[in-house]
Amino acid sequence: MKYVDEFRDGEKARVLIGEIESLVSGMKLPEGRPLYLMEVCGGHTHSIFRYGLEGMLPKAIELVHGPGCPVCVLPMGRVDDCVAIAENPKVIFTTFGDAMRVPGSRKSLLQAKADGADVRMVYSPMDALQLARRNPAREVVFFGLGFETTMPSTALTILQAESEGIRNFSVFCNHITIVPTIKAILDSPGLQLDGFLGPGHVSMVIGTAPYEFIANFYRKPMVVAGFEPLDILQSIWMLLKQIAEGRVEVENQYARVVPSEGNNAALRAVAQVYELREFFEWRGLGSIDHSGVRLRDAYVHFDAERKFAIPNVRIADPKSCQCGEVLKGALKPWQCKVFGTSCTPETPLGALMVSSEGACAAYYQYGGQKRQAEVV
Ligand code: SF4
Repeated sequence: MKYVDEFRDGEKARVLIGEIESLVSGMKLPEGRPLYLMEVCGGHTHSIFRYGLEGMLPKAIELVHGPGCPVCVLPMGRVDDCVAIAENPKVIFTTFGDAMRVPGSRKSLLQAKADGADVRMVYSPMDALQLARRNPAREVVFFGLGFETTMPSTALTILQAESEGIRNFSVFCNHITIVPTIKAILDSPGLQLDGFLGPGHVSMVIGTAPYEFIANFYRKPMVVAGFEPLDILQSIWMLLKQIAEGRVEVENQYARVVPSEGNNAALRAVAQVYELREFFEWRGLGSIDHSGVRLRDAYVHFDAERKFAIPNVRIADPKSCQCGEVLKGALKPWQCKVFGTSCTPETPLGALMVSSEGACAAYYQYGGQKRQAEVV
């Protein structure tokens, strides 16, 4: 398949691994620790485990799995809000599939559905809008979730609903923004990171310029990376090359998809429909300033948060759950006390075990069980 098979070529992967090994062997490494490189995006985490890339890298490199899976960082209180809206008998609650099983304090959306709530899985917000057209007597709510990757499609759906005068459609907006989140990670006390693999999908929308502060102010290199195994290996090689040559830049390995200026049409729709929230609560990371968006007042008719009474209560994760430490890279998934025992993909305690982009689910699915057994 064009643009896929050539990025999964085993021979080229071996050549790249050799190049990485030779770069690392000639580098001055940090004292007493490996080089820590964070992949920001959950899509990268999934590929890294799916293709066993972590195990191929020299021991001097350690990958830290970042917070770029929007399902994984959804706090319990927001899931409770979804369930409260979904349990309203007038409502058809629509959501992407991977958000259905995220645990709330009482139940997940899937459990709410089993209990009789009208929760339906959709593939896009436009599917939800179509449901609203077909069910004028019901209120159709779309669970808007994700980074800048999915923000434009929700915005464009709201603009479409407005142009058609549809009033029984609204969005429970949980869209989040990547840049303040990376900044919060960089400001975490004691955090040791030597470089970033930048998120390919988000960057397709926002471009590469918003990351310049990471190189200019925090003096950390970043390479915006694609999602195939050779993309990731080449991006790691580019990061190491910067470090070896003493350069600190934002580079774009995924130029076949990511324009440096981003997608102007998508950015215009985003700016028209949303405004920044003062702060937004993240699972495991706490509240991060300006890290989420809400609908502007002009679109109040489409804002489920203002249309329905929601509990809006902050709920702490279960004590045994160590998602926060894993999200910050302080723990590997298999080091969590409940990994693979009380927390599995079938019975997830934390959201990182739910989405295929979650680090715990990826470890579990692609060999984490074995790793845990080695440790035990
Ligand atoms: S194993 Fe479960 S509880 Fe532990 S960090 Fe992963 S998702 Fe969270």
